[in-house]
Amino acid sequence: MEGTQPKPACSVSHSPAYRVGIDLGGTNIAVGVVDENYHIAAKHSIPTGAQRPYQEIVEDMKKAVKTALQIAGVSPGECCSVGIGSPGICDSETGTVVYSNNLGWKDVPLTADLQKWINLPCRLSNDANCAALGEVAAGAAKGCKNAVLITLGTGVGGGVVLDGKIFSGCHSAGAELGHTVIVKDGELCTCGRHGCLEAYASATGLIRQTKRAAQQHPESLIWKLCGGDPERISGRTPFEAERQGDETGRQVVDAYLSYLSEGVVDFVNIFRPECVILGGGICNEGARLLDPINAYVCHYCFGGELVEAPRVIRAALGNDAGIIGAALL
Ligand SMILES: [Zn+2]
Repeated sequence: MEGTQPKPACSVSHSPAYRVGIDLGGTNIAVGVVDENYHIAAKHSIPTGAQRPYQEIVEDMKKAVKTALQIAGVSPGECCSVGIGSPGICDSETGTVVYSNNLGWKDVPLTADLQKWINLPCRLSNDANCAALGEVAAGAAKGCKNAVLITLGTGVGGGVVLDGKIFSGCHSAGAELGHTVIVKDGELCTCGRHGCLEAYASATGLIRQTKRAAQQHPESLIWKLCGGDPERISGRTPFEAERQGDETGRQVVDAYLSYLSEGVVDFVNIFRPECVILGGGICNEGARLLDPINAYVCHYCFGGELVEAPRVIRAALGNDAGIIGAALL
């Protein structure tokens, strides 16, 4: 929802104190009952079964909400809203999933269907937006009013919180940070353009770069680490190779970080957030990931030497960010 505040509007005394957050993923549906302090009182997760018809998935969502409420010992009457974070383009105004590649959905009236059943206000937003809102309310960016979240997974997701509100643009189709071009005529992206950040900074992009480097360097430790099978190369492989002293691994990691840093500086220059939050499995690399990006941002962001540069930090809530953020919609 445009204009979403991370602070519960219904937290005055004697009002329903809980909110339900649903993180609808391609793999799992995770439901959390979130209290006024943004803590998850109870959580319940079930497989999405994304290949199934829409109606079956919605029925399972309802059951998962019911179970999560039971575990929490909370009745629907003690809740003031239900929020859903879904992959894809989600129109927050109409509560419709306009398009989701992961779920195979097109123009699905998700909040209308849930609202009929639970009789609570239901809200919808993109999953990366929810994660950004969750991190601002209760995670790595707690206390920040302006934050940008970038998730580094199969693709590159983006969530933007400005003045404490999700910014998602017209028809909620904005903040697609992964599809901004950092290399003109570069790698082909899933969106059809060339040179998008997603094509370089996603785990998929990193794996592609690692495979290519390994092919050019038969002596690289990457081959040993993947047992000679390039299909076993993961986003961790080049980092591990570098840790073991491999020069090719180091070059892949350095190149990856320079691409990612380029994108981060662009977002800093556009939004000037208080912090940039990075999420996704690659963040487990910790300082090896964050230190060079922070140095690059300090050096290259506009006015970097004159004005304090935003911090680039790691997401703190993991999958819970999506549940908490959805609950706060
Ligand atoms: Zn793209």
